[in-house]
Formats: sequence, C-alpha cells, structure tokens
Amino acid sequence: MNHSKKVIYLDNAATTPMAPEVIDAMAEVMKNTYGNASSVYSVGRAAKAILEQARESVAKSLNCLASEVYFTGCGSEADNWAIKGYAMANKTKGNHIITTKIEHHAVLHPCEYLEKNGFEVTYLPVDETGLVSLEDVKNAIKENTILISVMYANNEVGTIEPIEEIAKIAKEHGICMHTDAVQAVGAEPIDFKALGVDMLSLSAHKFNGPKGVGALIIRKGLRIAPFMHGGAQERSKRAGTENLAGIVGLSKALELAVSNLADKQPKIRAMRDYLISEIEKNIPYIRFNGHREKRLSNNVNFCFRYIEGESLLLMLDINGICASSGSACTSGSLDPSHVLLALGLPHEIAHGSLRLTLSAQTTKEEIDDTVSALKEIVHRLRLMSPIYDMSLEQQ
Ligand code: PLP
Repeated sequence: MNHSKKVIYLDNAATTPMAPEVIDAMAEVMKNTYGNASSVYSVGRAAKAILEQARESVAKSLNCLASEVYFTGCGSEADNWAIKGYAMANKTKGNHIITTKIEHHAVLHPCEYLEKNGFEVTYLPVDETGLVSLEDVKNAIKENTILISVMYANNEVGTIEPIEEIAKIAKEHGICMHTDAVQAVGAEPIDFKALGVDMLSLSAHKFNGPKGVGALIIRKGLRIAPFMHGGAQERSKRAGTENLAGIVGLSKALELAVSNLADKQPKIRAMRDYLISEIEKNIPYIRFNGHREKRLSNNVNFCFRYIEGESLLLMLDINGICASSGSACTSGSLDPSHVLLALGLPHEIAHGSLRLTLSAQTTKEEIDDTVSALKEIVHRLRLMSPIYDMSLEQQ
C-alpha cells in the first residue's frame, strides 16, 4: 500500500487545479485593470475592452456569437437561470417542463421549485447505462411543454446523452432546449451552433479555470427573464459588477482546453480504459456504472458490493488518493446517489459507489498505485462486513 505523502488526485469531475497560464492571465488583470466595466472613463473602458475580448474568445471556443455569451457566478447559477428564467418569461405559452432523473441538483432543484409554483415537470427515466431514450422524450411532449433540459454528460457515471438528437426533436415541436454541459465543456468538442440547443451551461473550475465563474450561452432572440435584477450588466440580463479576473480566467482556460483537446482526449481515454480493466481484473464483486462507449474520457465509476462508499473514500484518503462517492454535493449524506438509483441499482449496491476522474496529468504509476491500494482496502472492508460473511457462507 502507498504510505507516501504524495497526493493522487482522481476527482477532476469535482474540480480541477488551475492552469498556470490561467493564473497568469488573471493576475495580470488583477494587477492592472481595476476599473468597473460600466464606467465611461478610460480606466472603465479598459476593463470593458478586456471583458468583451473574453466574451469573443468564449464565443470562438464554442462556435456561438459573442452576444450569446452571458457570464454568471457559477454553473449552478447558469442552470438555475436557464430553467427558472425561461419558465418565468414563457409561462403564458405553457407550464410543462421535461428533464431527466439523473440531472445535477442545480437543474433538479429549480425544477422542484417550479413545481411548487404552478409548473408541471416530467422527470424522464434512463436505462441501466444512464442513457435517455429519444422515444421517451417524444412521448413526454405535450401541448403545454415549453422547455426540455437534458444534461450533456452525467457528472457521476459519465454517460453522454444524445443531445443533438433531442435538440432536433425539441425544435420540431417548437420547444426550447437547454443542456447542462458543465462536465462536457473542455472535455468534449462542443459546437453550440451544430448542437442545435437554445441554452448551454458551463463552469470554469471544471476545465482548469477559477471557481465561482460560469456562463450561460443563450441563443440570439430567445426570451428569458433576468435571473439577477439590478444594474444593466450583461445586456440587462444579469446584474452585478462583472468578475473581470474570473471571466478572463474562464476564457483563457476554455481556450487552452479546446486547443489541447484533440491531443489530450485519446491519452486520458487510454488511461481511463487501463484503470477500468485493472479494477475489473483485480477486484471481484463489482459493478461497472455508466455507458462503456458513450462516456466522458476521464470517468470511471464502479460499485463495490458489501462496502460503503464513504468508508472507501476515507481509507483512500489515508493513502493520499482523492476520489468521490456520488457527487461532491451529496457526500456526507447517507442517501445513495439519485443517479445510481435511476440506473436501477438497489440501495445496498448504490451505497458502495466510487467515482475516479482522471486528468491529462494522471500517470500509469498513479493508476497502478490506486488499484493496488483499492484492492487491499476493499478486501479489508469486506472482511469487516457481516453481509459479505453471510454471502460467502451461502455460496
Ligand atoms: N452541473 C453539473 C453536471 C455539475 O457537475 C456541476 C458541478 O459539479 C454543476 C452543474 C454546478 O457547477 P458549479 O460548481 O459551478 O456551481
């Protein structure tokens, strides 16, 4: 077992370290550009110019118009705004929303909020790999459906949804389509125009940018209510003095992520597949979660039978390995992941889940160390489990 102090960071879906180039770009802004982008004098205009450059750069990275980029305080804000802002501005057209059972809480909770305020929400099921069926989407559409929100890639099991196809269905029915692409932007090639969605959420800290800044891409001409009321920033749609350094950090991180993607993705994917095969070779009584092919390049998710995910995390931590059980937001809670339950896993198996998410820096040696630690920890925890004992006796 690895007792050295070296940290093996395998929780890149929770957050990522900032790229040095991003820190430099932000430091430059913090040192030299203190102006308020709304001020008319030169110091303010300098800030405004940097803000608009960042907007242009994001637009170029995602193939949308600069005027379609709205900066927000995080991915959660972008999701909240898309759902609640669209629903409020279009409630005279209808009050039905379609989403899925496996969305992040930043989508599910706004939907639940709307249900308490006169809206009706259909939560689509997924199959055992986490995929939404296009037939289910079509069948859920009603006369009063105004919005469909389906995540691009699931943050727990990594399954990539058929967004382009769902967007086509939405368009045929004149329904607005939002996708929470927080886990996909920077990890998958994203072309806003080709994808055909009306709104797309992203968050900088998932692709080596700073925490506390995100964006909602809103198709030109879409009717959406402002989420934050106040000043006229972000074309009067999102009040609040802009977080200029954060926005510059987001645009720089996105630029780097997009330009390195073709190089990086096959390497990460190869490491991911090596990790999956090593776990499957070395540890018995496990269940692979998510889709084998339609999957984020860096995501590995397994359930280890007869074990609590939380104990696994604590013991991995003692070995310097950072991982996650379900999403970071639910860790500490005893409820099993809503995503794993939606995949049809029984509670007792869903409790033993572990998510390992790699980066371009993850090495084969780190993977070997992780698998050897995992093998020993799983064995030790199972020896303490009365259910494991009973199941061995029954065999
Ligand atoms: N949506 C998904 C799919 C996520 O994975 C996350 C973060 O984990 C969010 C939304 C929320 O993003 P943020 O942390 O920027 O609020």
